[in-house]
Amino acid sequence: MQKMTPSFVASALAISLALAFPAHADSAKNAAVVKEAPLRAHLAFLASDVLEGRGTGQRGADLTVAYLETQALALGLKPGNGDSYRQSVQIAGVKTQPAESTLKLEAGGQALPISFGKDWVFAPGDATASHSFNADLVFVGYGITAPDEQWDDYKGMDLKGKILVMMVNDPQPTAAQPNRFNGKGLTYYGRWTYKFEEAKRQGAAGVLLIHTTPTASYGWSVIQNSWSGVERFQLASGTLGTQLQGWMTDDTARALFKAAGQDIDALRTAAESKDFKPVPLAAKLSGEMKAAVRKVEQFNVAAVVPGTDPKLRDEVVIYSAHWDHLGKQGDTGDTIFNGAVDNASGSAALLAMAQEAVRAPAKRSQMFLWVAAEEQGLLGSAAYASAPLWPLAKTAANLNLDSLNFVGATRDIGTQGSERTELGKLAETAAKAMGMHIAEAEPDLAGGYFRSDHFNFAKNGVPAFSIESGREYVKDPAGSKAKADAYGKRYHQVSDEYDASWDLSGMVQTAQYTLNLGRLIANGAKLPEWKAGDAFAKPRNGK
Ligand SMILES: [Zn+2]
Repeated sequence: MQKMTPSFVASALAISLALAFPAHADSAKNAAVVKEAPLRAHLAFLASDVLEGRGTGQRGADLTVAYLETQALALGLKPGNGDSYRQSVQIAGVKTQPAESTLKLEAGGQALPISFGKDWVFAPGDATASHSFNADLVFVGYGITAPDEQWDDYKGMDLKGKILVMMVNDPQPTAAQPNRFNGKGLTYYGRWTYKFEEAKRQGAAGVLLIHTTPTASYGWSVIQNSWSGVERFQLASGTLGTQLQGWMTDDTARALFKAAGQDIDALRTAAESKDFKPVPLAAKLSGEMKAAVRKVEQFNVAAVVPGTDPKLRDEVVIYSAHWDHLGKQGDTGDTIFNGAVDNASGSAALLAMAQEAVRAPAKRSQMFLWVAAEEQGLLGSAAYASAPLWPLAKTAANLNLDSLNFVGATRDIGTQGSERTELGKLAETAAKAMGMHIAEAEPDLAGGYFRSDHFNFAKNGVPAFSIESGREYVKDPAGSKAKADAYGKRYHQVSDEYDASWDLSGMVQTAQYTLNLGRLIANGAKLPEWKAGDAFAKPRNGK
């Protein structure tokens, strides 16, 4: 036995006093300790072939939703949508029919000799099967309105019914302004999803983005593969998109601008300045665009642990994870994209956390939200944010889990994005309490903050981020890191499968951390707020 020094005696006494007088929400009786066994069991089941990869619109999706709501009921969670655990997500599958479409681009009175797929791609952004156009083209530079950067490419010009031709990415750093638009990092203004949404706000009929490999960060073949010959998914309400969305190659854009009597290089340079104004092109889009559109109903699953404080229980902390993956595809060999890491892990973690939250509730309510169709463009979380089951004004925060650590416990934890809000401080407190530290932030070159479900909450004013695995492994640091890195080869492949030999101590740790942080927020004196000046700082109703 260890020799008792006076200070050891004192701290032992403090501990026994704390146990005897539980003044604190996390006293032993009320501790919420995430267990490995349920987490492992849910993970193994959700990732099994039985669930067929949980594909949007497939049988595996129905099975997954039934499993999640059954587990929520069995755990004693309350339904999050009246007397139901389900929230309908109306999705449209849209596939352009280029052979039936007569769409053409004209400049200087001549039709450009371009073909669908090779030179340009297009699709309806509003889930509608047929559109006819006779619309003028306007070059709008980066197509950005960013009050936080004192930047507005539109300058109040009336763009109703126009087709906006835009550059992708965001204005590049200059010697005078090395930090504008987050320097070399990508801001949301640089994402094509933002550009389509902003064009809709401007009342435009459509958008054609100009592809270049450096600005898009991938080659034309990536766009060709995901826009031609395949079904694309969007919300059936069509609320986010203009009638036409599309891309053209750099060569197509050069030919178009030249025929319209414009110098594309000069216009690109002009677009790097905040004095840029939209430039009408002597060009138009005309003809019919046809697409096959089918409606698919999917479900978010929402379950609630009511808060214990008579006043604060009206406010909620939301934990989320997407339940969907890529489903069954093809008909030879292994056809099941199990998505064990992505994101059976996060879905299972939420169930294991919910089990503890029911046993040891907090002052504010806690919602466990499994969202649909993340892999199709964050659709389930977008549907939730546009029809929230709990008022956003009373939603304290959203903590999201996507693709957890299957390698082992770490000394650090990733909280990138938390620093935008008062959640940053709480994230640090929660890490310290578990003997961990916050992982060093990496420059967000690919815009990771905008590519996960928490972003649909952030966009609407709710402080939100995704908790990411740490990288400093406690056991066998080099071997563990190599194991984690090797997952890159299995990402979005049929080989993202569960392995019973996985060390789940890191997954349990991440789930515990997320629950602890959520409980800090749920027991806190006030709702966390955005830091002043952040691009997403606004009231929680998103206005
Ligand atoms: Zn994922």
